[in-house]
Amino acid sequence: MSYLDDLNQKHDDTHLKTLSLYAKENSVPIITDEGRRFLSQMIRLNQVKRVLEIGTAIGYSAIAMAKNDPSIQIVTIERDPSMQKKAKASFKEAGLNHQITLIEADALEYDENALKGPFDLLFIDAAKAQSEGFFEKYAPLVKKGGLVITDNLLFHGLLEADAPRSGNRNTRQLIKKIDHFNHWVLNRPGYDTQIYSIGDGMSLSIKRID
Ligand code: SAH
Ligand code: MG
Repeated sequence: MSYLDDLNQKHDDTHLKTLSLYAKENSVPIITDEGRRFLSQMIRLNQVKRVLEIGTAIGYSAIAMAKNDPSIQIVTIERDPSMQKKAKASFKEAGLNHQITLIEADALEYDENALKGPFDLLFIDAAKAQSEGFFEKYAPLVKKGGLVITDNLLFHGLLEADAPRSGNRNTRQLIKKIDHFNHWVLNRPGYDTQIYSIGDGMSLSIKRID
């Protein structure tokens, strides 16, 4: 554990700790501690009440976001049946069924018009090769002045200049796609975007008002 994670973890929620242990044991790629704290602080600073998440996995990030305030409502989309099952159990166990709605669907196929916008925050954290598609499809549901945050833009550090070049063809393809997304999102008209080296790399886009 890093020095800062060690320092910052003092007040971490025990239920989240249990879930993160489960994620580790089962190799579920949940958000980093640092990323989770960043999301929470963004939510509080911007008084975010309505969140749309793409990629629920076991429900860890959704629960972390919901716990910031009982008035926050989260809609989260997951396509994998085994993840859906675990997420449902997690939400129930956390007593957060009234705050979190799980949509069991592939986010690229789901009819986004069935969702009631506007959302204050869109959190994109699903298939890494498809972040652009998720952004195009769901960002129109974000209110003006609202936020779009995308996770894993450094892909475990592999996008960084000093990272060892992966020998795996699929990994190299994925790195190329994420690199393409990073340039695309930074230059996306209508949004003011920065990419931060927080956690596994996160972009924060503010939807322009004008
Ligand atoms: N946000 C979670 C981690 C998500 S991991 C957390 O930090 O706790 C990514 C998840 O996205 C996986 O469970 C995967 O099944 C899901 N996913 C990938 N592509 C998807 C798609 N097109 N639609 C819905 N879910 C998708
Ligand atoms: Mg992630």
